[in-house]
Amino acid sequence: MINYTERIALLMQDVVSRTPRLSFIDLKEVIVFGRFGRSDAEGAFATCHCLTLPESEPGYFFWKDRETGALTRRSPWFVTKSPQVRIGATRIKYLISFVLPRFSDQTMIGSRKADLYDSVEPWIAKLDTIVHELYHIDPADGGLRAVENADGTRSYRSHGPMFYEDVAQMVREYLATRPDPSLYDFLKHDFGTLSERFGGVVGTTFSNFPSFPQRYMETVDLPGVDPAVRIEPLKTPTQPVIYTEDNLHVRQFTDGSARRLTRKGQHCAA
Ligand SMILES: [Zn+2]
Repeated sequence: MINYTERIALLMQDVVSRTPRLSFIDLKEVIVFGRFGRSDAEGAFATCHCLTLPESEPGYFFWKDRETGALTRRSPWFVTKSPQVRIGATRIKYLISFVLPRFSDQTMIGSRKADLYDSVEPWIAKLDTIVHELYHIDPADGGLRAVENADGTRSYRSHGPMFYEDVAQMVREYLATRPDPSLYDFLKHDFGTLSERFGGVVGTTFSNFPSFPQRYMETVDLPGVDPAVRIEPLKTPTQPVIYTEDNLHVRQFTDGSARRLTRKGQHCAA
């Protein structure tokens, strides 16, 4: 089977080594992983998730009486934090997710980014997305070059007017360095072709699939505003706050789902 996220990571290594504007990126601090998403549904092809954003300022939720406007209940003070992801001794700074099969079925034909290129082959749209996500990594180590909205969706305003043009230029420059085609050939095929040719498509996922490391709330001990107001405890986090290599699971992606691959004999009681 073809390990799609591993292929992307290898290609990224080559892109970074041939692209001066991305050469500061240390891919040892980046994990490429797969999320499930249908090709016929709307949604992102890929996302760059930053794990180095600082802890938020303390805050709390509150409920008010609809008629009197008086405070009726509140949550305890909490801060929002990034989970920790460590592979061996290395602290991971970024996660880049690719949505499968949607990403592998992406084509330049009819896409918005077609305007940024002269006539190019349809698969270049996928290379464009890969470079796009790498370009989100901030050289100043300050998080994302373009931030996400509070609800986690991507803010297109924050890409800046030159973001898409810069990406297209880096894609053209990378291809002009004549990279080894065996590194990007897999991008030329859609999901169905790859599944048939390799007998399946697999990729790195996290143990809490379909979830993955995401920011979470943690209670902090600060004095209450009004002791008479009832405090509603926060929900206990249901996702891990620390991840290691043990939380990386290889899953097979199909048109309709993703399932974990278990090694033969793993559950065998000898
Ligand atoms: Zn973006």
